[in-house]
Amino acid sequence: MDRKEPFQFGRAQMIPYGRQDINEDDIDAVVAVLKSDFLTQGPAVPRFEDALASKVRASHAVAVNSATSALHVALAALDVGPGDLIWTSPITFVASANCALYCGADVDFVDIDPRTYNMCANALEQKLHKAALNGKLPKAIIPVHMSGQSPDMHRISELVADYGIHVVEDASHAIGAEYKGTPVGDCAHSAITVFSFHPVKIITSAEGGMATTNNPRLAERMAMLRSHGVTRDPSLMRGQPDGPWYYQQIDLGWNYRMTDVQAALGLSQLSRLDEFVQARNEHADRYDELLADIPIGLPNRLPESRSAFHLYVVRLQTDNAMAHRSVFEDMRNAGIGVNLHYIPVHVQPYYRDLGFSWGDFPQAETYYQQAMTLPLFPGLTSQEQEKVVETLKNSILRRNATPAATA
Ligand SMILES: *Cc1c(COP(=O)(O)O)cnc(C)c1O
Repeated sequence: MDRKEPFQFGRAQMIPYGRQDINEDDIDAVVAVLKSDFLTQGPAVPRFEDALASKVRASHAVAVNSATSALHVALAALDVGPGDLIWTSPITFVASANCALYCGADVDFVDIDPRTYNMCANALEQKLHKAALNGKLPKAIIPVHMSGQSPDMHRISELVADYGIHVVEDASHAIGAEYKGTPVGDCAHSAITVFSFHPVKIITSAEGGMATTNNPRLAERMAMLRSHGVTRDPSLMRGQPDGPWYYQQIDLGWNYRMTDVQAALGLSQLSRLDEFVQARNEHADRYDELLADIPIGLPNRLPESRSAFHLYVVRLQTDNAMAHRSVFEDMRNAGIGVNLHYIPVHVQPYYRDLGFSWGDFPQAETYYQQAMTLPLFPGLTSQEQEKVVETLKNSILRRNATPAATA
């Protein structure tokens, strides 16, 4: 193997479904931290936190090493523990559900709205009603901003407010998105909102995540939990500090800290957020146009939302697993890195061992049989988009033309 070949991010062979956009400013920001006194626990982390909080209009932001960690400290700060129940959407990355298990809590799911692939508010209403009757209400729910578009947060938060259930938004897909004219992350309808900065997401810090909140007590608790549950703040300590070296562990936390190297990249990327979301929306508009005359379902845009368009998901109008799979194969064979977001969490083997099975959440399962994520990232070229659309069109037309497609 010749290791000297420059790494091409797989682009020569494959148009990926997503990829980061790193410019010279991003690189300079990282290099400046590498030459500075602090690689971690320095000034870059609070700088990133302050900038992000102000961008999404939240009072506080707590940076951690991933969105998974952010979800974990969010639930821990809300005192979620053994005996508690958390509900989320089955169409999400496994982390949205796993965070509850980390706390020793149980997980259940609320089926999706087939128009938006987000947690369905009507399904939530019915499930709450039943749960109230048999005393099995969740302590918190985690709606997911699937593909970058907000769930119906206004109605969801109203529905759970009557029961005192906390809301944690998994907005891993949705930094830069808006809901009812305000930024996702302002926590207008939740206790805490979580973002991811994995390279396929809207902005990146390589790995990283952030939790925003308007509640100072939750912010303080999450900040402590990300760093072992240790504090140096005398006002939080039991008794008086022994001296200037003193710290106390007052809770059981983890090492979930974001480094200054990551924060510098995140901060630089944040300054480009509007540009990224604009480019993603333009590419999505272009897909809408190019795909208009193909018999597939396109993303449904709600008037009260502006999606960050992390993902552009189409639905093939087929209940035929073979047809779904062969369109994927056609696309992959043509060098187009289509993907499937997501396999419903409840049918993962680990979750089946917990008692879930096929048939539990029918809308999520039908979605899974039809969904396909097309490549979408700021640097996607119009030639690449045309290639994606041509290949998809040919694959679908060919399939519709052969009788085997309906067999
Ligand atoms: C990416 C993602 C996560 C996890 O983010 P990490 O930063 O990789 O931990 C959680 N939830 C959703 C919906 C995601 O897409």
